[in-house]
Amino acid sequence: MAKYSFDCDMDHDPMHFEVEAEDDDSAVKKLIEELGPHSEEHHPDMKDMSQEDLEKMVREGMHKEEVTAV
Ligand SMILES: [Zn+2]
Repeated sequence: MAKYSFDCDMDHDPMHFEVEAEDDDSAVKKLIEELGPHSEEHHPDMKDMSQEDLEKMVREGMHKEEVTAV
């Protein structure tokens, strides 16, 4: 598992989002879900983005932090 975080600060104070996921692909999906209500409120334009562009944006913007099992 790894922890993935994404900071959104487009036109507003920075907001921090965090999810845990097995790999990058599922992290992107989880982050998009996490961002859903926020996007609806602050970024209505994102509705016009294709799913592909949205995933690309999240993938490029997210930070990965390995969670090592001890
Ligand atoms: Zn935002």
